[in-house]
Amino acid sequence: MENYLIKKARLTDGQVVDILVHKGVIKEIAANIESNEQIISFGNDFVSAGWMDIHTHCFNKFETYGDKADLVGYRQGVCTVVDAGTSGSDTIDELYQQASKAKTRVYSLLNIACTGIYAQNELADLNHLKRQEILEAYQKYPEFIIGIKARMSKSVLGDSGNQPLHFAKELQKELNLPLMVHIGSAPSKLEEIMDSLDKGDIITHIFNPKENGIKDGNQIKECVYKAIEKGIYLDLGHGTDSFSFNVAKLALDNGIMADTISSDIYFRNRINGPVYDLATTMTKLLAIGYSLNQVIDKVTNMPAKLFNLSHFGKIEVGKTADFTIFRLEEKDIELKDSSGKVMTYHQSITPTNVIVKNQLYNLTEDK
Ligand SMILES: [Zn+2]
Repeated sequence: MENYLIKKARLTDGQVVDILVHKGVIKEIAANIESNEQIISFGNDFVSAGWMDIHTHCFNKFETYGDKADLVGYRQGVCTVVDAGTSGSDTIDELYQQASKAKTRVYSLLNIACTGIYAQNELADLNHLKRQEILEAYQKYPEFIIGIKARMSKSVLGDSGNQPLHFAKELQKELNLPLMVHIGSAPSKLEEIMDSLDKGDIITHIFNPKENGIKDGNQIKECVYKAIEKGIYLDLGHGTDSFSFNVAKLALDNGIMADTISSDIYFRNRINGPVYDLATTMTKLLAIGYSLNQVIDKVTNMPAKLFNLSHFGKIEVGKTADFTIFRLEEKDIELKDSSGKVMTYHQSITPTNVIVKNQLYNLTEDK
């Protein structure tokens, strides 16, 4: 399905428009378009640019973290998933093979440890930092590797200190790619990490409930404001242990929002929660006070911007025709964060259809 017309698409900004797609690219957007192409319509459901989840574990190899791209991708209304460091240079060929078979678009943030997340502590052994192999991996897959990933927390680092972060920074400058840094328990201390990062770098797990997180009593740590001023991006990265309603709400009360909403999903927290899917993560942000438009922006436009994937992320003439179609269901839903705190909300974001790589999937029939 390369050429078609979406009639009366309801956008999240309140507009209702016709969208003409030609050869998989948005050709025209107007109030009323006449065309001989196949016509599709999604009734009262919202049509947004295809959702992108920039923190997933969609490499199906290791027991620690992993999943199949399509299970966390198109089947959950997500057009593009980014594998955030499950794979390093040792296994990038295999991730690439898996990715090329997926119906979902897949990209990689290459782990700076050559092993990837084969075990929880991939950076405890400094021998895993192999500069040449990373350069070669990038040379081989320049379109597929869109950034690098460093997990800077106690259980990952062992006694390695901040050396992996310095390694990542040097490498990043050489490759001119965005760097995503995961934060958690110290070491490394949040202040040190923030100090080392620059404009365009990304911190993930921003609303984690740990002591080394962004919250200090009833305040947000000073280093967070400095980081935002520098142009560092804040990514949600929900995960099993890394999202707290309290921290997210305190941040919002202080004018701080996540720039991107991502799930940190893999098979365990997909099946058992508390993540389940990106849509549920998005609903949680609605529940704490983000607007629908903001939530959608943070899974479409912002991820595309952070990773220079400029042909995605917007419903605009010339962009790739990936769409996520969803409804806001009016029903009471219980939402759980990583600390086990439960919030009840009266609406739920539910994807109903997705168009990715020129294929339309009806998700309500598939289930
Ligand atoms: Zn992760």
